[in-house]
Amino acid sequence: MQSVIDEALIIGLMDYRESDRIVTFFTREHGRLSGVARGARRSVKRFGGGLELFCRLNLSFTPGDGLVRINDVEPVTIYPGIRTSLEGIAHAGYACELVAAMSPERMASQRLFRLLVAYLERLDSAAASRGERHFFEMNLLNILGYRPPLESCCSCGAPLGDEGGSWRRGLDGGLFCSGCSANGRRLGGETLAAMLGSLRTGRFGHVVYTQGVLAEAGEYLEEFISANLQRPLKSLGFLRLSP
Ligand SMILES: [Zn+2]
Repeated sequence: MQSVIDEALIIGLMDYRESDRIVTFFTREHGRLSGVARGARRSVKRFGGGLELFCRLNLSFTPGDGLVRINDVEPVTIYPGIRTSLEGIAHAGYACELVAAMSPERMASQRLFRLLVAYLERLDSAAASRGERHFFEMNLLNILGYRPPLESCCSCGAPLGDEGGSWRRGLDGGLFCSGCSANGRRLGGETLAAMLGSLRTGRFGHVVYTQGVLAEAGEYLEEFISANLQRPLKSLGFLRLSP
């Protein structure tokens, strides 16, 4: 098979055998794929120091049925600004793990690639924030076809708008208007506006999540995302320690 070159971000790393690593990439043209980096544990130089989590690089690989063969990597950036703060590392690690867990193997999505690049660039140049994490989550869910049903009541279909709605665990993220259910956790009108507003722009920093909105959106998104995952994300514990 012929080797292929693609732009890639490293979204997962795992030690393998005595001296190798299994590297998971999210590539622009080929989606998520994994390969064995032979000798990567023995020598950092073997891949030019480019095999770090959330490193951006040009990847040369040979496609195969299972793991691809990694021929060479050419680092583009390691996002040095992110690596100066624990919050930045926690948020970038979470974003990578979320993409690794939710993107189907080898399904290309240029929009998701651009979103992850934009988020890493943002984390590289500005302090991490919970609002921008939720902005990233909303856009990721939307791109991958898991958009939460926030516009209308899941029971009677009434538009929710300014009034907001309520939700309960285990109901696929559906919201109820006040006429259909008086119980449950709230997603107020301001929270709905911020969450839906996040889908109208791809630019970080354009949607502000206030404190009350952060609490409501955070609880809802964590529940909604975990309901769509096979297993809990390892990076969530680390992320919860950061502001
Ligand atoms: Zn209703």
